[in-house]
Amino acid sequence: MAVRITDECISCEACASECPVAAILEEGNEKNPNEDFFYVKPESCVECVDHADSPRCAEACPTEGAIVWDMPYTEEFNEYYALRNEEGIYKIREHKKKGLMLPIVKSQKFNESISIAQRQEAQFVQEF
Ligand code: SF4
Ligand code: SF4
Repeated sequence: MAVRITDECISCEACASECPVAAILEEGNEKNPNEDFFYVKPESCVECVDHADSPRCAEACPTEGAIVWDMPYTEEFNEYYALRNEEGIYKIREHKKKGLMLPIVKSQKFNESISIAQRQEAQFVQEF
């Protein structure tokens, strides 16, 4: 990833239109594993690298704690995403030929100034 939307989200819709890579899905979307709140597709999110100085979704979000840092979407964290996909926390896209678009198939850009510790602690993106 990425960033992750938590159950603090109030589904106000402010974030989705701000995303430069259309990575945010509203509740009710069949590709969103969450029933009651918005969702960031980790296989699509680029943490706004090369698009903005900081994540646009978090800048638009009025709700503290609704958007937190997640792990980089890189090979190193392939297992992390594979396991959580099995658990239903994520709903990673299945490509007809390539299969599940896990980091090992296609990694994504991430903000290198955010440490792994900050990501493990799910720190609020708005604070950066
Ligand atoms: S961090 Fe940027 S690319 Fe990722 S979901 Fe938010 S707006 Fe989209
Ligand atoms: S802007 Fe924040 S509260 Fe609103 S839908 Fe997006 S994550 Fe949820």
